[in-house]
Amino acid sequence: MFLGRPLLGALLLASASLPSFAKPVNIILITLDTTRADRMGFLNSKSGLTPNLDSLARQSTVFASAYAQVPLTTPSHATILTGTYPQFNHVSDLGFSLSTDLPYLPDIVRQHGYRTAAFVGSQVLDPKSGGAPGFDRGFERYDAPFHLRAPREDRYQSVERRGMMVVNSALAWLNQPPQTPFFLWLHFYDPHDPYDPPAPFKARYAALPYDGEIAYVDFAIGKLLTALRSRGLYDQSLIVVVADHGEALGEHGERSHGLFLYDETLHVPLLVKLPGASPTHLRIESRVGLVDIAPTVLQQVGIPAPAAMQGRSLLELVKSNASRNPKTAKSDVLAQDRSQYAETDYPYRAFGWSSLRSWRTGKYLYIDAPKPELYDRSLDPGATQNLVNSASSVAATMAAQLEEFRRKTGRSDKADPVLTAHQVQQLQALGYVSSGSSKPEAEEKERGPDPKDKVEIANLLHQALLEAEEEHYREAIPLFEQILKADPNIALANLQLGRAWNNLEEYSKAVPWLQKAVELTPQSAEAHYQLGAALGETGDWAGSTKQLEAAVAQDPTSDDLLFSLGSAYEELDRTSDAITQYQAALANNPDNFRANLFLGRLLAVQDRPKDALPLLQKAVTLEPQSADAHKFLGNVYTVLGELEKARLEQNEAQRLKALAQP
Ligand SMILES: [Zn+2]
Repeated sequence: MFLGRPLLGALLLASASLPSFAKPVNIILITLDTTRADRMGFLNSKSGLTPNLDSLARQSTVFASAYAQVPLTTPSHATILTGTYPQFNHVSDLGFSLSTDLPYLPDIVRQHGYRTAAFVGSQVLDPKSGGAPGFDRGFERYDAPFHLRAPREDRYQSVERRGMMVVNSALAWLNQPPQTPFFLWLHFYDPHDPYDPPAPFKARYAALPYDGEIAYVDFAIGKLLTALRSRGLYDQSLIVVVADHGEALGEHGERSHGLFLYDETLHVPLLVKLPGASPTHLRIESRVGLVDIAPTVLQQVGIPAPAAMQGRSLLELVKSNASRNPKTAKSDVLAQDRSQYAETDYPYRAFGWSSLRSWRTGKYLYIDAPKPELYDRSLDPGATQNLVNSASSVAATMAAQLEEFRRKTGRSDKADPVLTAHQVQQLQALGYVSSGSSKPEAEEKERGPDPKDKVEIANLLHQALLEAEEEHYREAIPLFEQILKADPNIALANLQLGRAWNNLEEYSKAVPWLQKAVELTPQSAEAHYQLGAALGETGDWAGSTKQLEAAVAQDPTSDDLLFSLGSAYEELDRTSDAITQYQAALANNPDNFRANLFLGRLLAVQDRPKDALPLLQKAVTLEPQSADAHKFLGNVYTVLGELEKARLEQNEAQRLKALAQP
């Protein structure tokens, strides 16, 4: 009794805002990365890729005309989870922090007594290591076990994980049945390129590996739904399935996504299964946006949506469509259509080309570009006939509406952050173009070349990055050269070409490209670091030191950069400067093996064996297979007169060295 009272009080408090007497509603949000609407059986695909999603759709409201607001993973998820537009939340690219003053669905439901957990499929949505800082707000558990891919490491063991891993991790969390309702978010990254489904989907879809990834994700979701049913969690859950964006697959010349704003990358599947024992199927044709999802979820579970949320709940559409008169259904669709805004700054950030905005209203699609575009989607759903000249007054009206909408829904923001060298590396490991640029966010009229005139370069760069990521440097180099022949000023191509030569240990070939990269993006720590490494290896330690100092100035907390600068100082016999940098590296990361080893050795040489001892002991613990660590530690024991310990370490060093002999 004594123990029970405070607990009861806490439970009452926690559920105070939930609808009284109603069975608590669990929220399950499933986001499908890079998934085109036209691959879904429930959206009329005949390919048979999605039997499990189709059966869920038969008990759900299907939104047949749902649109993403940004064709990129992190920004689109920011819109889904905050219910705000990109011009308001300013998560316009990877690595941009989700501001703490934004409304955030997980945080809101947590404050109303929900248990909250996220299981994401890619480092792109990892708050800790680069892609999505701030996304863990409000989550009790944010499962993103990713790290930078080491040479020859499997991508599914480092930067992403398969759908079944996501499902199994989430089900393990559900094995400790929460006492309160829960909010569970699962993110499936599989359809994102490279398209590489696991067996048996790999063989079954050998000719269409992208479709194979979709079929595999559907299989994983089938396992999830079966598990939810067997645990009695299916009926009482609100289940939302949505894709963050589509995939161009060559339409309009685009290979993947991010560059353009056509339907192939913005029209996405969206279905909402309401809680209840016998949910009915409904198909709604009216155009809606992913910005509407968070307010919908909140309304369904009886939590008021914060005023800052810009989307509108979809439940009113559900109610009016459920009771609609089939005779007037067509006019209802148009009346209920919501105009859809979308944008991408990716062309600007990655290449210095123009950012794009789009506006879908009525039967028209308008794209605000240096060469604007207008399409009549009722006659030309593939957006192939640009009507901007023949219907110039329509285009002008659409342009004005777009500007007005952007003005009403935007808010100013502080300057964008500069990505750290570590973040840039991690994002590039996923095939993303990120120059680490600190260029301010594209303003309303940020105009460079029109991306549609340059799409081939974007495709080549994407291909080259994937090759470099797979350590196929010999294949990547001619691609980078081809890109730079067409446009010598793409900073990332210069950086990556230099980096590829560095990785092939042809350092003098790397230097000119890296010099150009530094010139184009002086704020890029990675560019300075790579140039510093190349110059050092060619014997120019003074030049190397200058570059590494610049890299550290841009990214002063990177232990790897601080270590590199320290070792460059050692090459120039600047011993006390070297010691300072090694110490700074260890202050930022006490487990940096090389900093422990090099500082320990340097202090030993400086006749400071007692200071060296703990560092070398640590180095041996961190990498017991390092012969050098044992050798230096043995030397220090010798100086300190601990001869038995010295003998053991030296024997171990000898043994490891012998093992390393071929
Ligand atoms: Zn995505």
